[in-house]
Amino acid sequence: MHRRNALKALTGLALCPVCASAGFAADAPHWSYEGAEGPSHWGDLDAASKVCAVGSQQSPIDIRDPVRAQLPPIGFTWSKPADTVINNGHTIQANFTDGNSITLGKDSYKLLQFHFHRPSEHTIDGKNFPMEVHFVHQHASGGLAVVGVLMATGNANPVFKKVVSTMPAAAGQSIKADAAINPNGMLPANRAYYRYAGSLTTPPCAETVQWLLLTTPIQVAEADVAAFAKLYAMNARPVQKANRRDVLRSG
Ligand SMILES: [Zn+2]
Repeated sequence: MHRRNALKALTGLALCPVCASAGFAADAPHWSYEGAEGPSHWGDLDAASKVCAVGSQQSPIDIRDPVRAQLPPIGFTWSKPADTVINNGHTIQANFTDGNSITLGKDSYKLLQFHFHRPSEHTIDGKNFPMEVHFVHQHASGGLAVVGVLMATGNANPVFKKVVSTMPAAAGQSIKADAAINPNGMLPANRAYYRYAGSLTTPPCAETVQWLLLTTPIQVAEADVAAFAKLYAMNARPVQKANRRDVLRSG
């Protein structure tokens, strides 16, 4: 099999639960973060990705003037470590089988995977962070809730350190995850969050995501960010228009 096709197949497989909910086939078109296949061209990739260009609820956004609101706390029930870690050609992603979920009010969402962006995709008052991790959850009805955690440099984070010290270097490679890759280790103590209605930040940019961006960053070692950057120096979509969407802030 041609290498790119092999990669496509693998990437499609890894993203399948998300793609299926977005009505998107596994044979996804090729895209990147720069040049002729970069973010400003994603809307031309195929019919399903048109919303990348014409949507009104796209992500990421700059978080500015959030409105304080009575929001339910996010209930984290993450009891199992990651199953596999894949280099999917766009990022490093840890996949999960059943067992981890969050609750939001009376709704429950199952954790499918987490992955990283460098630099952060969301910005706060125009400022970005060295990295951002996205924990992608899915409701039984198909809708997604993504918990975003901003990553600042400082003290080492043992889970992130384990990810970068074991991650597959070649696009298309997948490995069994080290048992120490426990998602709880990448959450800050303070779970206050911003909430807004948005989209996937990669093609097909489906507007099916409830964004839950924690207000408090975690710290990771600069050397670990540098190790990630050797594989993915820039894999962040630029911020999109807010289009009068309210951003709520809990607590
Ligand atoms: Zn992401």
